[in-house]
Amino acid sequence: MSIVEERLEDIKSTIAAETPPGISVTSVTYEGPELVVYTTNPREFASEGELIRKLASKLRKRITIRPDPESLMPEQAASERILEVIPEDAGVTNLDFHKDIGEVLIEAEKPGLVIGRHGKTLRDITMAVGWTPEVVRTPPIESATVSNVRSFLKQEREERREILERVGRQIHRELLSDDEWVRITTLGCCREVGRAAFILSTPDTRILIDCGDKPGAEGEVPYLHVPEATPINSIDAVVLTHAHLDHSALLPLLFKYGYDGPIYTTEPTRDLMGLLQLDYLDVATKEGRTPPYGSEMVREEIKHTIPVEYGDVTDIAPDVKLTMHNAGHILGSAVAHFHIGEGLYNVAFSGDIHYKETRLFNGAINDFPRVETLVLESTYGGRNDYQTDREDSERTLKQIINETYERGGKVLIPSFAVGRSQEIMLVLEEAMREGDIPSMPVHLDGMIWEATAIHTTYPEYFRDELRDKIFHEDENPFLADEFNHIDEGEDEREEIASDEPSIILSTSGMMTGGPIMSWLDLLGRDTDSTLVFVGYQAEGTLGRRIQNGRREIPLSSSRQDDGRGRTLRLEMGVETVDGFSGHADRRGLMNYVRTMNPRPEKVLCVHGDESSTQSLSSALYHEFNIRTFAPRNLETFRFR
Ligand SMILES: [Zn+2]
Ligand SMILES: [Zn+2]
Repeated sequence: MSIVEERLEDIKSTIAAETPPGISVTSVTYEGPELVVYTTNPREFASEGELIRKLASKLRKRITIRPDPESLMPEQAASERILEVIPEDAGVTNLDFHKDIGEVLIEAEKPGLVIGRHGKTLRDITMAVGWTPEVVRTPPIESATVSNVRSFLKQEREERREILERVGRQIHRELLSDDEWVRITTLGCCREVGRAAFILSTPDTRILIDCGDKPGAEGEVPYLHVPEATPINSIDAVVLTHAHLDHSALLPLLFKYGYDGPIYTTEPTRDLMGLLQLDYLDVATKEGRTPPYGSEMVREEIKHTIPVEYGDVTDIAPDVKLTMHNAGHILGSAVAHFHIGEGLYNVAFSGDIHYKETRLFNGAINDFPRVETLVLESTYGGRNDYQTDREDSERTLKQIINETYERGGKVLIPSFAVGRSQEIMLVLEEAMREGDIPSMPVHLDGMIWEATAIHTTYPEYFRDELRDKIFHEDENPFLADEFNHIDEGEDEREEIASDEPSIILSTSGMMTGGPIMSWLDLLGRDTDSTLVFVGYQAEGTLGRRIQNGRREIPLSSSRQDDGRGRTLRLEMGVETVDGFSGHADRRGLMNYVRTMNPRPEKVLCVHGDESSTQSLSSALYHEFNIRTFAPRNLETFRFR
């Protein structure tokens, strides 16, 4: 018997000893990090309210109960019973039965009401029909991404189960080495922003954290061919901190290279990365570049993704436990904490963080049971990287909107689809509701609408106040009447451009392409209108050139295509309002470490240009007397 089987036998006897007579456990198995318990008595299991929770904490595993098919109520009857058990307010939109695993997937507008207090309604469902319920939210704004991901996972469930079983055996395999060491190898993202990729290794295990591209430098990809990452299928697990392309763009490439293991990330990150990667492929094709992988690799990646929730401790290797925590940066973004060995060592990767709360998210978590080394982003780590106070920024933005409105002009805001747009939407919604600015249409162009729809699918990831508002007061600011989805292309844009005053949020955020170019063409000559930058404009982008005063804009117009490019003389107002960044500034980064509990022994400053990483590294050393580094790419650090 292999060690995995022996352990499963042990677990089976433990469970048998803990369960009252009359409940039979036919078998137990691993599916990914979860333990699956098969029983012929699902109703009895559910009626012992605390039993599953007790077993989970005793075995330190997440537990799923799989009923024997014989014990299930037939689907039609079960359907009717389930709808009787669930309160009507829950707004159930779909029930989907999976007989092979005895699971019923319930889609509802208010999942909380399907779950009930401490899961009571879920247990009631099992007691009534025998099936194991799983609940997902029906997005209040229809999202093509969410529905595609869900139906794809449904269609691939057979193969997905095989993947999970294989991953489960990998996680619970025997450790081969008695050595104890922990290393981090930097494959990118050092003294630069972009191509985030790090290998965390122990004698038995290799974990890859992030695998991004470098915006504006397509050839510069992570150093995946180093010995620490070769062959690619020697990597046990991939952990993704968040969906931004400088962290996620090249994950699908791993599957093209032969990786066949799991990706751990949050559920919203899974959906957002799919959206952003498919767009990344699209943009590459449109710009005449050969994309590094095809869309089928994005599907492979999603098939291999194991979602984790904030705060859940998950075994991802025999000697590594992962816990993800809110990073405050974008939807689903996480600080990834790794506990290695039995108390041997702890490392936290910050990913990108925002230390203070924003309108959308709580501030980044910096409270851990233990942490010896922190790998910290340094985007705004430079000596003078201080952002304007958020309230001041909001006031300035509202003032610009009011002035433009009075002139009868339009406010054009180039914005990233994920994060910045939703933050601005919340500012605008409140300003209109409170009368700080007149109520007017806010048009959302490009991927912004779809990204917002994904946001509304996962309100539990929002800041407490916003979540409460949505859950308890039934007020969802994203559903405000003023927001309009531009879905009819150029005709609709032309109509809006000649219509009453309005606000337009459009991609791309740095004006490197996308519908914002049409808007420039339509509004650029209008002296009454204003172009407002609310996000970082990278060197070399059109956004940065306009910020720097350039007013002759080359347009390769698809609107009035005469086969030649034209030059537009920009006459609209140009303003910059900073302070809406999703990143902590220098003060925020210092405070993150200052208040970190416990304070780390070592900090690696990454994800910032050369001067930012060095400046932050030296400031942290002088202020807190901890060992700090500003690594270069391809370095390896040994911690134990
Ligand atoms: Zn980011
Ligand atoms: Zn980043």
